[in-house]
Amino acid sequence: MKKIFSFIISLILTVVMLPFTNALSLGDVDGTAGITTADARLILRASIGLQRYAEGSDIFTACDIDGDGTISTGDARTVLRIAIGLDHIDNYQSKDVGTKEQPADPPGGYSHGVYVPGLVNDDASYNYIVNTNTLKFHVRGCRALSKMNSGNRAYSAATRSELVADGFSPCGICKP
Ligand SMILES: [Zn+2]
Repeated sequence: MKKIFSFIISLILTVVMLPFTNALSLGDVDGTAGITTADARLILRASIGLQRYAEGSDIFTACDIDGDGTISTGDARTVLRIAIGLDHIDNYQSKDVGTKEQPADPPGGYSHGVYVPGLVNDDASYNYIVNTNTLKFHVRGCRALSKMNSGNRAYSAATRSELVADGFSPCGICKP
């Protein structure tokens, strides 16, 4: 009898929890397929404090369409525009990834007396291999690297333009 009872309880819990386990995506706050005016309404309610979602939760992330860390009336407005076809979610998804996933630039440092922007160790993720003697930078795998004196070698997580701004020039062989 106890077993049947606990089975029924778990069954009820499953059914009750089902609407909350739908996969949420950006702008799709209620977990139904697609972005609708209902999603905009939920975001508007959250933006004016009628509903609270925990920061960092899936539903909070789904509401925060501009990815600024708050649920605002602007988010509701954007979702409404998307729902009625005046805007498209693709305009926000890419921005979202850009602002949330991008790690902070590592600071630069000196290697063999030369300032290297985004200086990292070779076991960290890096973008370019820098020659502190010739001030050229290379992509990994460049054939010029085998001839490089290991004493001149440094690793940088900086971007191409950051390296150029600090006086480095792209290698003519691997053309980074
Ligand atoms: Zn190269």
